[in-house]
Amino acid sequence: MREFSMRPEILEFDPYKPGLSVEEIKERYGIANVVKLASNENPLGTSPRVQKVIAREGARTFRYPQNHTPRLTTALAKHLGVPEANIVTGHGSDEIIDMLIRMRCVPGRDNILCYSNCFSMYRHTAKLCGVEYREVKRGENFELPLDRLAEAADENTRFVFVTSPDNPTGLAAGVEELSVLAGVLPKDCLLVVDEAYIDFVWPPESYTPLQAFEKFENLVVLRTFSKAYGLAGLRVGYGVMPEKIAEYLRRARIPFTVNLLAEEAAITALEDEDFYNATLATVMSGRDYVRAELEKLGCEVLPSQANFLMFLPPTSAQRLFRELLRRGIIVRPLASFGFGRYIRVNMGTEKENEIFIRTMREIIDGA
Ligand SMILES: *Cc1c(COP(=O)(O)O)cnc(C)c1O
Repeated sequence: MREFSMRPEILEFDPYKPGLSVEEIKERYGIANVVKLASNENPLGTSPRVQKVIAREGARTFRYPQNHTPRLTTALAKHLGVPEANIVTGHGSDEIIDMLIRMRCVPGRDNILCYSNCFSMYRHTAKLCGVEYREVKRGENFELPLDRLAEAADENTRFVFVTSPDNPTGLAAGVEELSVLAGVLPKDCLLVVDEAYIDFVWPPESYTPLQAFEKFENLVVLRTFSKAYGLAGLRVGYGVMPEKIAEYLRRARIPFTVNLLAEEAAITALEDEDFYNATLATVMSGRDYVRAELEKLGCEVLPSQANFLMFLPPTSAQRLFRELLRRGIIVRPLASFGFGRYIRVNMGTEKENEIFIRTMREIIDGA
């Protein structure tokens, strides 16, 4: 076969590893009922109001969507209390991460800075762009090392990424600490706070710097419709960022990446407060129940503010993962995050949580 040349970064590229899908599990293990608790998706599924809107809008999909999703942007500006000029929507928040790094960082000169064992998209995107990826170590007990990030940022650091609440630990940074970090970063460096799980913290005002967005000059907040709003399959997210940066992103981006159905669904999801509140209630009561039960089974559980729990089981995490899988339950072993002894499980419906705990008991007590 003929060899075609590729960029060196691509030749050695380590692809993003998503969790197994329900279909893959059904096929591989011949199981009819699969409980998927591996990708932090919404336990209540897709909102019925959103499903209706998608069905209705299907007839319009021969049209191009409006570029830059102006209707969703207006709805978001109202919802968040920030100017439209500061908002950029994307094909998942992954696309915002991609646009930020691709449009600001000069390959071979600039770097981005993260902490160890974090969400892999920052590293993937940096690599794809030929931009240096730097990491500082987490603190004791998995703590988010904001002090170390402040110290490590240099004049070529274009972004410092902080996931808060963090994936996979569920730990969240306080709004004060984030403000301090933003304040001490070098002049040309932005603080990106990835708030994919911000909906699940309590109380929100202690955690999100977005409420005082106008006080920051170098803050980007990323949010997504994939988790609390139940639209992971449609791919919509957004970033709130300094106006000038937003303007460049809109100028150079690929047009229409947020499709017509995604825009309509996201607008409706924002309006559907009943579904959103029911999601939060399910996740928060599930989190208390699953934590208490896991502890009874001898697991060490981290204090999560997200829709998932990270825990150290009293038996091998790899074996536990395989035994759960054989019984139709998918969780996320954390070897790919560098935490080989740990498991992450997201909150399901009340019934799914009970099935998970019952199956865990069978495996651990039978071990
Ligand atoms: C799930 C997740 C996202 C959301 O990604 P989308 O592209 O919007 O689906 C972003 N950041 C983190 C840390 C996540 O876990």
